[in-house]
Amino acid sequence: SSSSPSRMADSEKEATEAPSIFDKIIKKEIPSTVVYENDKVLAFRDIAPQAPTHILIIPKVKDGLSGLSKAEERHVEILGYLLYIAKLVAKQEGLGDGFRIVINDGNDAGQSVYHLHVHLLGGRQMNWPPG
Ligand code: AMP
Repeated sequence: SSSSPSRMADSEKEATEAPSIFDKIIKKEIPSTVVYENDKVLAFRDIAPQAPTHILIIPKVKDGLSGLSKAEERHVEILGYLLYIAKLVAKQEGLGDGFRIVINDGNDAGQSVYHLHVHLLGGRQMNWPPG
């Protein structure tokens, strides 16, 4: 693996670009509870919530971002924007007492969907360190 898509193995490129269940959510081919949407991002409730509020914020265009470890300089703007939207949604959800942002990357973090997503968790006291 490498930081440059042009030097990625074909198999890795394929995995990076492979569609995930989130493409179907973006296209509304499978239902989700959308809490925020614009032309760049979609925020919807996690199907298996780990806190009273558990929302996923994703870029509508994956552009190779199967996970944070695939980030390139061209992704800087969308990466920052996802965090800004997370903050907006936290406010919209009434999480004035605090919230947690999580990005799982790869096997050791338990990443299960390979389309970059920011978890927004709140509505209860969070533990540290996380599991
Ligand atoms: P991660 O484990 O960080 O890759 O997070 C993937 C998240 O997507 C998990 O928390 C899942 O519960 C969630 N998820 C998977 N399928 C769906 C779905 N159809 N609608 C909403 N959330 C989903």
